[in-house]
Amino acid sequence: MAQSTSAKRIRLRIGGRVQGVGFRPFVHRLAAELALTGWVRNTQEGVVIEVEGGGAEVQRFQRRLADEAPSASGIGEIDAVVLPVEGDRAFVIRDSDMSGQSRTLIQPDIATCDTCLADIADPGSRRFRYPFTNCTQCGPRFSIIEALPYDRGNTTMRAFRQCPDCLAEYRDPADRRFHAQPNACPVCGPSLELVVDARVALREDSALRAAAELIRSGAVVAVKGIGGFHLVADALNAEAVAALRQRKRRPHKPFAVMVPDLSFARDLCHVGPGEEIALTSRAAPIVLLTQRSRAVASGVAPDSPRLGVMLPYTPLHRLLLDEVGGPVVATSGNLGDEPICVDNDAALAKLAGVADAFLIHDRPIGRAVEDSVVQVVAGQMQVLRLGRGLAPAYLGHAAPITALGAAGHLKTALAWVSPAGSLVGPHIGDLSSAAARMVWQEQVADLGELHGLRPERVGVDRHPGYATGELAAELGLPTTPVQHHHAHAASALVELGLGGPELAVVWDGTGDGGDGTVWGGEWLSCTLTACQRVANLRAFALPGGEHAVREPLRSAVGVLTQMARLDALGGHPQYARRLRVMAQMTERGINSPVTTSAGRLFDAVAAILGLCEVATFEGQAAMALQYAAEVAPDEDGALSMPVRRLGERRVVDWEPAVEAILAGRASGMSAPLLAARFHNGLVDALVDVAVDLGAQRLIMTGGCFQNRLLMERAVRALMAAGIEPLWPTRIPVNDGGLALGQAAVVAATATEEEH
Ligand code: ZN
Ligand code: ZN
Ligand code: FE
Repeated sequence: MAQSTSAKRIRLRIGGRVQGVGFRPFVHRLAAELALTGWVRNTQEGVVIEVEGGGAEVQRFQRRLADEAPSASGIGEIDAVVLPVEGDRAFVIRDSDMSGQSRTLIQPDIATCDTCLADIADPGSRRFRYPFTNCTQCGPRFSIIEALPYDRGNTTMRAFRQCPDCLAEYRDPADRRFHAQPNACPVCGPSLELVVDARVALREDSALRAAAELIRSGAVVAVKGIGGFHLVADALNAEAVAALRQRKRRPHKPFAVMVPDLSFARDLCHVGPGEEIALTSRAAPIVLLTQRSRAVASGVAPDSPRLGVMLPYTPLHRLLLDEVGGPVVATSGNLGDEPICVDNDAALAKLAGVADAFLIHDRPIGRAVEDSVVQVVAGQMQVLRLGRGLAPAYLGHAAPITALGAAGHLKTALAWVSPAGSLVGPHIGDLSSAAARMVWQEQVADLGELHGLRPERVGVDRHPGYATGELAAELGLPTTPVQHHHAHAASALVELGLGGPELAVVWDGTGDGGDGTVWGGEWLSCTLTACQRVANLRAFALPGGEHAVREPLRSAVGVLTQMARLDALGGHPQYARRLRVMAQMTERGINSPVTTSAGRLFDAVAAILGLCEVATFEGQAAMALQYAAEVAPDEDGALSMPVRRLGERRVVDWEPAVEAILAGRASGMSAPLLAARFHNGLVDALVDVAVDLGAQRLIMTGGCFQNRLLMERAVRALMAAGIEPLWPTRIPVNDGGLALGQAAVVAATATEEEH
């Protein structure tokens, strides 16, 4: 372009989610349209652009850059500098520059876009029925990236050489596959195989059709997806579902289902507007919906009115579901609570006794990512498990130093805070297995390196039995214990962008209080560096300690012993002896820690109401109580839970409520009615304490706030009392959000100590 007096050159650095989303091609097209010259390149600090041309055009370029950015991108910050004019002749896409401090955010895996879906459905397209179709607006990202910057050579697609047709698209700035790193077609890309009895039985489209036929006929098929393997079975076939449960050794915990399209989701469940948005979002998570038809086999989600539903999120899943023609169970391909299988050999070996056949492909999975789980609460999407499509989650929180949060034990996920921002990694899960602990170690190294983060300190839980304590010690960095509920509250402060002091009500199952008791029903006044316990639920002794998680009856014994009402459980002769033993343990203080846990109180009430005496997964009893309460939706009566004073602290006394439950049971009142009134009583107590303390707003977090009924009633009651309800939505309220709080507290505390 000829230089003129009005010529101008600027350099823009754009942070945020701008790599792997067709951003550079978009910039190229825009510059060409406005006849500007210069260049664009990916760097570790984001996308850097220099453009030169008429002053008005440069201005228009800047405006349109923000307005017309690709839908998959998310522009963070833009720095602009004016430079001397250089007289470039064209606009080019330059090779990536790896130097510099990393501030780039990695794009999560994105569900197939409508245009790619049209491609695979079009018999005239060269990608007709091709299961690995993608473009700059969709496809795998986080799960295939091995290093930054995001170029094909740094992904697991490296091994696939593009054919001339693909290469032409990849090089054409006008094509929507311009620089689409996982670009592929049937000629040059990954392909499918169906493995039966350790032998490749069929390939490509016949493999897919045969896998669908197997599923339709009641078999369990292991399917390799984006971030790992699924075990897939016909959700309408009770025998197939039962076989899957038995082989996977998972008796009750609900399975998620995948449905061919939204209309199937509507047939099975109520789908509200917020839920439809979540289902069809680019993340395509599992959304917890309320069942309406009960069409799926009862073994899919035993005794649960809810169903976790997701839509197909890759062309492979879409083609498979279309062939099956109905809902399938799609649960993580693993044994028990182990991590999800990601590579072919490991899956073939580990899942040999579970799956009848394997639908695999040769695109390696760079890192394991499980499906995300969300629900819609009080009109807002709430993330319950951070995984595919949502992880890593980036937050603006800038900490004074770089610190790592090691997480807890059961629902683990790692988090980093740093001066450049914070992030939470994908769900790792239960660290009871050696395999899961290895994933923890790999993620510490992998995600840290990918983001250029070198932690100076590690935040850990106080609990001596958590695997993360030992694992963190092996890192050779200074570790600092952070009280469990302070970490929960701090995680919420970080997500909400608050410094505190704020009042937070933290209710969960178990957390080491640091005072020799087990906390879990707490009101805390806290900042990142300080935390004061201002109120709690009344304590009771828990016979058997953490065994109570699997046996809610123990919580009931603890509560009733405290009230000297153990006789109320007398109706169970088969339990009489065990009850006496538990009661003696409690009275003599043998392995009977004192707890204020709200989760255990839920367990106790569920057991007293006869809803759940033995649990096979964490939270089962509390869920049973919630579901019972939901059967009495309009019940507004509340059981009394008075707030008493204990020195400076307030203590919520549940005894009158439990007494009322016993009386109600004796007089033949229904469990749903009593369960609903129990929920309402807890909500009243939550509000009473907040009012008593003069709070303007209240943060709600901890695993108990995954209870939608509790959360929605608390939100309503707080608003009615003129108190603003706040809760985390992007980072789980359960222990999956713990690491973020640990890291933030450790970073803030370390700096405060220096001053
Ligand atoms: Zn696409
Ligand atoms: Zn090709
Ligand atoms: Fe917790």
